[in-house]
Formats: sequence, structure tokens, C-alpha cells
Amino acid sequence: MAKKTEEHCSFCGRPYSQTGTMLAGISAYICSDCAQQAQKIFKEEILPSSATLPSALADGELPRPSEMKAFMDQYVIGQDAAKRTLAVAVYNHYKRLRYNSQHAEKDNSDSVEIEKSNIVMVGETGTGKTLLARTIARLLKVPFCIADATTLTEAGYVGDDVENVLVRLLQAADYDVKAAERGIVFIDEIDKIARKSENTSITRDVSGEGVQQALLKLLEGAMVSVPPEGGRKHPEQKLIMVNTRNILFICGGAFDGIERAIASRLNSNVIGFKGDETRQELDRNNMLQYVQPMDLKKFGLIPELVGRFPVLTYLQPLDHNALRRILTEPKNALTKQYVELFRMDGVELSFAPEALDLIVDKAVEYRLGARGLRSIMEGIMTDIMFDLPKMKKGSHFVLTREMAEEKIRL
Ligand code: ADP
Repeated sequence: MAKKTEEHCSFCGRPYSQTGTMLAGISAYICSDCAQQAQKIFKEEILPSSATLPSALADGELPRPSEMKAFMDQYVIGQDAAKRTLAVAVYNHYKRLRYNSQHAEKDNSDSVEIEKSNIVMVGETGTGKTLLARTIARLLKVPFCIADATTLTEAGYVGDDVENVLVRLLQAADYDVKAAERGIVFIDEIDKIARKSENTSITRDVSGEGVQQALLKLLEGAMVSVPPEGGRKHPEQKLIMVNTRNILFICGGAFDGIERAIASRLNSNVIGFKGDETRQELDRNNMLQYVQPMDLKKFGLIPELVGRFPVLTYLQPLDHNALRRILTEPKNALTKQYVELFRMDGVELSFAPEALDLIVDKAVEYRLGARGLRSIMEGIMTDIMFDLPKMKKGSHFVLTREMAEEKIRL
């Protein structure tokens, strides 16, 4: 027992004056709160019950990969390769969870430990990486959060500690730790924490390698102590322990310039093995489809991190045709949202096809991808919606190309 006032709990960091009696180990102390938390975790670890799986996954209702893809098709245009890879990886992930918990219950020592399949999606900004991750989480009804890798720093530097990613997940799960531990975390802009060169630097690289190292801890499946309100850990704050072993991490990044690494790897392979015919078969306009883990390493992700992402997929750049479809086809397509807004004021809205073509042309011209569609559309519709409540109920409003052109010129 520790009674001296200067001792601190080695888990939550609180001093003896706040925790009261602590148990002493060889070189550590634990307070009663942390001991209770630990006991709870051990109980749940040893006997994880399928009843604690999120609703959609508990009762044999894990959708099949083809069903997941069909669901994604309703919201995301194109990107078939990414959808298929994601569907299989997510299916395996939740199957693994169920398998591991069933085998833990039976205490079956010869069972195969199925490893987690974290995913990296490589693709230009605005091509649907976040949308895909969000859509799959929505289908599975598991807690989901988005973190931006550029805001993360290793502990002790200005910025968000890596653990704060889990704070968002806990918030998304309404602080239900069990649910959060089976959630999905999407980390955007993972490419921005690449170190500047593949060679290990002797100077400290605050924004890059340190954050990658810190992220590794989350990905490896560790017990992480999380300050419930986010921010820095304060000794007086009660910490929540979150086990990241079953959290699925999906990362996205544009990896600008990675095509060059891919091309040079492919070129040297082609020269080495098959000669010129293979080189001609390469689709030079979309080199991302040939991306391999070694290209991520070359780009500046540390090998340990690349190793934690066994599933790698790519997104196609969006061409005119895809953008045009994005405007009208998804379940919550932009045009459908405006039609609904108008309908609430009793006005029927439709878009002339030429007006939609113009919007898409502008998005392509401004190189804004799908994200640009919204701002261009908003620019055109704001004035019109200003007068919407004055329009006659039951009237029909058609957005023509001329109207759209005029608004864009303004
Ligand atoms: P990324 O994460 O790749 O930068 P997002 O998924 O955030 O891009 O996409 C931004 C917005 O663009 C989305 O909210 C969505 O409205 C639209 N969008 C992008 N790609 C697609 C797509 N393939 N299908 C439908 N909408 C898309």
C-alpha cells in the first residue's frame, strides 16, 4: 500500500492526496479507480460476448460484401475498385471480431488469430474517400469519426495528441466504450505526415515521423488512456481506457506525386522482365491503380506504419461524366437536395441538362472535383432561393443554362 503523499498513480497520474490508498507494485502504483477500470476491462477482454457487438452485427446480420457495395453504390458514384476492396476488408474485419470473440469464449487455444485489416485509400482530394468510409459506417451502424492527420502531433507538441482521435470516436459512440472499441476511424490526409525523405533524419521531425510513431501505437491495438473531454491529459482528469484492437482504421490521402514513384518502379520492372509490350499496357492517365505498399514507403510513410495497413486501394480521378452523375444520381445528390428545398416552399424545381453541363464544366475548369460542385451550385442558387418564398405556390421553376451563366459571371 502507498501512503506517502508524494506517490502518484502510475495509470492516471493523480497524486495520493486525490486518490487515497493505492496498491504498490515493484515500481508502480495503482489507485482504486484505475484498478476497478482494469478489472472491468479484463472481464470484458476474457469473455467478450456477442451481445456487446453493435446492433447490425450482433445477430448474424453482417451484410455480405456484395450487399455493402450495393449500399455504397447508392451514395458514391464509380470507384468500383475501392468499393470492392473496402467491402471485403470491412466484411473480414467484423467477421474476425465475431470469430475472435467466439473463440475467446470457448478458450480454444488452437484457433487461428485473424489479424486486423486497416485500410489505406489513395486518391485525389474530393474523389470520395471520406464519403466511402462514412457510408460503410452508416450501413453497419457503428460509431464513426474523422480525424485530420495534419492536426495531430506527438505528445508534448502544440496540436492534438494522437489519442484525441479516440475522443471523437467516444463522442460518436455517446461514450459507450464498448461500441467505440468496434467503431471505424477515418484519418484524412495521412500523406501529409510523411517524412520528407525516405532516409531517417537525425534531426527531430515534429510533423512527420513522430506523429507516425504515435499513430502506430493506436493501430497496433493497445490500451490507450483517453481524456474524455479531449485536450491534454491533466493529472486531475479521469481517463477512459480504450482498447484499439478492434477499431478499424481507414486512412485516406492524395499522395501528390506518388505517380512518379509508381511509374519509376513499373518502368524498372518492365525493363527487367517483360520488355516493351507490358509498358504499353500501362494506363498512364491513372497510375494510382498500380499503387503498392512500397510506393507509400517511398513517399515517406515509415515501414512499420505501412505494415499496419495491409489493405491498399485507390480512387479514380473524377472525369466530366462522373461529376455529371454525382450531381444527379446519388440518393442525396445535390440536385435532389435543392428540389426538396424548393418543394418545401411549394415550388417545383428542375434543371435544364445544359445548366448541369455548365456546372460540371466549371468544376472541371476550377479543378475542384466533386467538392466544387456544391460551391458552384450554391453560388448559382443563393439569389434564386432568396426570392423563393415569394414564388407562387404550385409554380414550376426551371434553371436554364443562361441563368446559371449569368450567376457564375457575377
Ligand atoms: P475526399 O475524402 O476524397 O477528399 P470526400 O469524400 O470528402 O473526398 O468528397 C467530398 C464531397 O464530394 C462528398 O461529400 C460528396 O458530396 C462528393 N463526392 C466526391 N466523390 C464522390 C463520388 N464518387 N460519388 C458521389 N459523391 C462524391
